[in-house]
Amino acid sequence: MSVVGFDFGNESGVVAVARQRGIDVVLNDESNRQTPAIVCFGDKQRFLGTAGAASSMMNPKNTISQIKRLIGRQFSDPELQKDLKSLPFAVTEGPDGYLLIHARYLGEMRTFTPTQVLGMVFSDLKTIAEKNLNAAVVDCCIGIPIYFTDIQRRAVMDAAKIAGLHPLRLFHETTATALAYGIYKTDLPENEPLNVALVDIGHSSMQVCIAAFKKGQLKILSHSFDRCLGGRDFDEVLFNHFAAKFKDEYKIDVIQNAKACLRLRAACEKLKKVLSANPEAPLNIECLMDEKDVRGFIKREEFEQISIPILERVKKPLESALSEAGLTIEDIHSVEVVGSSSRVPAVIKILSDFFGKEPRRTMNASECVAKGCALQCAILSPTFKVRDFQVHESFPFPIALSWKGTAPDTVNGGAENQQSTIVFPKGNLIPSVKALTFYRSGTFTVDVQYADVTELQAPAKISTYTIGPFQSTKGERAKLKVKVRLNMHGIVSVESATLLEEEEGEVLVAKEPTKIETDDAHPPSGTEADVNMHDAKASASENENGVPESGNDNPVQMEIDSKVEAPKKKVKKTNVPLSEVVYGAMLPMDLQKAVEKEFEMALQDRVMEETKDKKNAVESYVYDMRNKLYDKYQDFVTESDREQFIAMLQEVEDWLYEDGEDETKGVYIAKLEELKKQGDPIEQRYKESTERGAVIEQLSY
Ligand code: ATP
Ligand code: MG
Repeated sequence: MSVVGFDFGNESGVVAVARQRGIDVVLNDESNRQTPAIVCFGDKQRFLGTAGAASSMMNPKNTISQIKRLIGRQFSDPELQKDLKSLPFAVTEGPDGYLLIHARYLGEMRTFTPTQVLGMVFSDLKTIAEKNLNAAVVDCCIGIPIYFTDIQRRAVMDAAKIAGLHPLRLFHETTATALAYGIYKTDLPENEPLNVALVDIGHSSMQVCIAAFKKGQLKILSHSFDRCLGGRDFDEVLFNHFAAKFKDEYKIDVIQNAKACLRLRAACEKLKKVLSANPEAPLNIECLMDEKDVRGFIKREEFEQISIPILERVKKPLESALSEAGLTIEDIHSVEVVGSSSRVPAVIKILSDFFGKEPRRTMNASECVAKGCALQCAILSPTFKVRDFQVHESFPFPIALSWKGTAPDTVNGGAENQQSTIVFPKGNLIPSVKALTFYRSGTFTVDVQYADVTELQAPAKISTYTIGPFQSTKGERAKLKVKVRLNMHGIVSVESATLLEEEEGEVLVAKEPTKIETDDAHPPSGTEADVNMHDAKASASENENGVPESGNDNPVQMEIDSKVEAPKKKVKKTNVPLSEVVYGAMLPMDLQKAVEKEFEMALQDRVMEETKDKKNAVESYVYDMRNKLYDKYQDFVTESDREQFIAMLQEVEDWLYEDGEDETKGVYIAKLEELKKQGDPIEQRYKESTERGAVIEQLSY
């Protein structure tokens, strides 16, 4: 069982693994701790990660980046449309209203869903983990932003499956950070908790959480976010500033030129970083456009001036996190910042002014999410013994169940009226299961939806469940218990429906049932619309992640409630069939196809890599042998054999640059064999002689 944490950012991903001695961030092939989240489609193969980033300037239209912004979002989403403006690749609306990415791959235009591309990014990160652990990686935890909607969470799960991963948990990035912060603290108080504000300002978004730490546990008190406030906004401000300046001074319109745009944006990002440490910075780009070299310069002061509209937005998430936690500034013990955009001095100033204290950087800003995810994975996995530390996670959105009731409606003259109740209020513990009781005479449907979409760019309706058919033996209205689950990943689904029929017989000891009334307008029991809700017992064994019972001390896994209705009579329970439609989700069949497709593409990449290796092997053999023939093999080959062999090597070298430039793996293997047939006997004679030499040396010793 692997214990791995993945942080997939807009820009780059980080992989952390658990080893016996602790949690380590691992290096990729290029010995970097961060790997670009980029997929570049080529004529013969894909280039992932660092290789993808290397090809991006040469092949911008087929280089896909910023996947995190794209997954699970509708094409019509205005926020998405804005994001698309700065992306050089083609995106269209798919038949389901979600996105299709177009790229030239293997010589023809193909389409991919963002989920598929994220699957490729995960594949790359998975390979990095596997190379380091020298073992297969399947179980993992993946960090996600708190603001990810149900469909985005499902998309991440699907992408993980496409990559052959099995996430034990999708873990909120801020909570991962909180865990990475708290678990190592040995001085946490026993009683009065320590409230810490964790602020993450990344590339495209800002997230805040307030966590209460006590000995052996952390509890998330509140979450808040701005999905569109991050480092790239500063880049954009600088970009616009210099684009206008260059139009003026050099008469070039950068906006009209995709490559120039990319280069100017990249230069602006660098400039921004320089400004974090210096009061002023230059910007010089050679041959930006129309063969013109450009020069610019900006002071930090001016940068801050033009960034005011962005800086002004930093305060709002801070305020809402605080008020939702029900705390005042005085209750906040300390402020921890992560996310690399918190390096902007003006941002830090806002944070210090707001909280009245200097924010701290206890954690490695770019690695804490991956580490926190690996820690969570270790807690959930039986492979490692982890210090006892409980995580009480809270869900950021209120979720409602809605259904059509047929209770008499005097206003509408008895027409069907839509009714709904909040099943998981904002701040609900994750995971959690709730049960609702319905009285119905036949098949009916319920919708799962967001109770409030003001904070979300998402349609309210998440899914629809059709419950039935069922047959009630007595009376016309049957009593059904419908269980709704908010799972470990923060994904909501109706899990089961059970027909409850009282049977004649022994009377059990009755416990007063506690019912949470809904906002049903017609609550008297017996009406068809009557719904009672209570927290259901979600035992660890029910956990869909197969989390072992031994993890019982971890409250993340269960929400035991004493309000479980105790049956008065013996009750017969029958499972009622349930069918599910999740809007915008991948169908199991399509997921299976995507898994196969990814396998095929990965195979193609591997074949191409191997082909390259074999070609290189032929090339190095030619150079190596030629050198040796004039050097140490000189005495082991006749003059004429050598001439002939040298000519043959020359011929192969020429072939490599001409006809043999683009051959299959098998051809290169055969070519190497051919050369070796000539070279091996020479090599053999040389070897025998040196070995003899060694023996003689030894004898004389
Ligand atoms: P997100 O959190 O939005 O998913 P991410 O996790 O990939 O993205 P981070 O790595 O936290 O984002 O931050 C990347 C951003 O930080 C980039 O916009 C980058 O330009 C910016 N950044 C990095 N170093 C500095 C610096 N020294 N000063 C200012 N900004 C910086
Ligand atoms: Mg981040």
